[in-house]
Parts: sequence; structure tokens; C-alpha cells
Amino acid sequence: MALIITDECINCDACISKCPNNAISEPDAEWSFADGTTLRGLVKSLTGADLDADAKNAPLSDEFYFIVSDKCTECHGFHEKPQCASVCPVDCCIVDDSHIESEDQLLLKKVWMHGE
Ligand code: SF4
Ligand code: SF4
Repeated sequence: MALIITDECINCDACISKCPNNAISEPDAEWSFADGTTLRGLVKSLTGADLDADAKNAPLSDEFYFIVSDKCTECHGFHEKPQCASVCPVDCCIVDDSHIESEDQLLLKKVWMHGE
């Protein structure tokens, strides 16, 4: 599962530097798959779609920090526990029920973004 940041976020900035995948962005910030990963240029997504890893994508929130679910591995491959949830002072980094993934899928996502 990916995590999601709720509207209880107080924009404290504590989580962003903790994410091993650069899956977290500031409010109103563009994001890309290339940020913090080894993905560059045209790549295939895990579902087989063509995407431009360098493309700047629209912010997912203009009010709160947000998590790009396609980059969130729940910290699998790096840490025992989700680092954003560990540091968040208001406990607003929670499991995103709309993005259910197995541990194997999350590890595949990690390898897709960073290599072996
Ligand atoms: Fe990043 Fe880990 Fe939080 Fe996902 S759970 S957004 S990978 S820090
Ligand atoms: Fe928002 Fe929590 Fe991240 Fe602070 S640590 S920016 S409150 S999600």
C-alpha cells in the first residue's frame, strides 16, 4: 500500500527529507519520477504504460504536502517502517486504502525506481 497525507497536515516539512523515494512534495510543487530515482527519459511503468520520467507533473495538492502513490513503497527496501509516518507530529500520514499493494509489489516498485 502507498501512504497518503490527509488534510490534517500542518505543512511542517518534517517528512519530505525522510522519504527514500522522493515521493513527497510540498504543496503546489511539480514532481517527476526522475526526482530521487534512477529513472530517466522514456520508461515503461510497472503496468506497461509509456511515461517520461523527466516530465514535470502537476501538483496533487496546493494546500498540503502530498505523496505520489506510484513512487511510495511504504519504505520497503530501505526501512522497516514508513519514515513519513514515523516523524509526522500530527499522524496524518496514513495507509491509502485506494492503493492496495503486496510487499512483493512494493519491492518491485523500489527496484523499478532504483535498480537492484
Ligand atoms: Fe516515502 Fe516511505 Fe512515506 Fe512512502 S511511506 S511516502 S516511501 S517516506
Ligand atoms: Fe504534513 Fe506530517 Fe509531513 Fe509535517 S510531517 S509536512 S504535518 S505530512
